[in-house]
Amino acid sequence: MEKRIAIIGGGIVGATAAYYLSILPGSEQTKVTLFDDGTGQATTAAAGIISPWLSKRRNQRWYRLAKAGAALFPELMRRAQLGTDVYQQTGTIVTREVPTDLETLVDLAYERRQSAPTMGQIETLSAAEVQQRVPLLTAPQPGVFISGGARVDGAALVQGLLAQATAKNLTIRRERVRFTADGQVVTSMGPRHFDRVIVAVGAWLKEVVAPLGVVAAVRPQKGQLIELNVKDYPLQENMPVVMPEGERDFVPFGHGKLIVGATHEDDGKFDLAVDPAVTADLLASAQRLMHGVTADNITAVRVGTRAYTPDFAPFFGPIPEHEAILAASGLGSSGLTTGPEIGRLLAGSALYGGTPDWSEYELPLTTYLTSSAE
Ligand SMILES: Cc1cc2nc3c(=O)[nH]c(=O)nc-3n(C[C@H](O)[C@H](O)[C@H](O)COP(=O)(O)OP(=O)(O)OC[C@H]3O[C@@H](n4cnc5c(N)ncnc54)[C@H](O)[C@@H]3O)c2cc1C
Repeated sequence: MEKRIAIIGGGIVGATAAYYLSILPGSEQTKVTLFDDGTGQATTAAAGIISPWLSKRRNQRWYRLAKAGAALFPELMRRAQLGTDVYQQTGTIVTREVPTDLETLVDLAYERRQSAPTMGQIETLSAAEVQQRVPLLTAPQPGVFISGGARVDGAALVQGLLAQATAKNLTIRRERVRFTADGQVVTSMGPRHFDRVIVAVGAWLKEVVAPLGVVAAVRPQKGQLIELNVKDYPLQENMPVVMPEGERDFVPFGHGKLIVGATHEDDGKFDLAVDPAVTADLLASAQRLMHGVTADNITAVRVGTRAYTPDFAPFFGPIPEHEAILAASGLGSSGLTTGPEIGRLLAGSALYGGTPDWSEYELPLTTYLTSSAE
């Protein structure tokens, strides 16, 4: 019998889940409907850096997940045949001013590479060598170069994956939906029953699961970044991403496009307004990194809403007491990196059922999802 699966949310988690639900064995007997209204989506606002290996975060579960996510990217891109405009391993450079700090970072890179071959080549670069790789920078610091680091265009990735899934078994509905207390999905055409529902609504999980009697420990965080056009500069297609110490990240996308950001604004509200003071601050950071850039170079300011849990860790899986509904949230500032692996795992679980054991990647879901009756 045909299986009907709904996905609520079309960011990186929902889009990757939809893609895998269109290619996994058994998907031929499955009809998938994705509901998304796109407002505030973190995925389309994101800077696009895929380089988790030198993070100072001590959460080993998060690190294993981020490492798996970074390793999945090249395979996913090959399979989906998405080009270098969407994803490219341009390499990433992390800079440190103090030589001993740089040595510590390089040691960490070699240690981490033992279990993360995706990292590729590691090179220690002088300030002059950093500038040679990224001629846009005017006063770079020395740094470590990781050749497997990448940049991804979140909006283009989602678009590419959804287009391929739509050619198979996916229908997309651009609308906001909600749950009934018994887990039906209320659409503009009324309540609908689905055999499985994947809830990939990012920062909006709390309101979406409330009708089920579930309380989600997820809060929103605003993020802003600027997109610059610097086409007068010698921009190579494959210029590395730079994560400069004490400054905003610097992401060259080719074709004159450069991203500088992002902010982490913790006022706990869903606020998509562009703040001119923040734009000026981001521009000032860009100007400290490279001379000659002015407000005239800003082509867009992107605003998105990240989802955070109290321990800053993502979670995903069947909602306790609602096993037919799978949720994912809390991807925070690294969700472009972890999102595809989460989407892939959720797709398999929605299709084949069973009780997944993802304890290597996350704490039990009861850590983040509790009953409102408690
Ligand atoms: C400025 C910024 C920069 C970032 N930079 C990076 C980076 O460089 N590297 C990195 O790894 N990560 C980065 N991130 C983090 C990353 O973007 C997020 O963690 C990730 O995109 C979250 O994906 P998601 O699918 O969980 O949620 P989202 O992308 O937010 O998607 C959720 C979707 O659900 C929809 N939705 C919500 N409620 C409903 C409803 N009731 N009905 C229908 N649809 C609904 C929303 O409209 C939205 O489209 C950044 C984030 C921001 C904001």
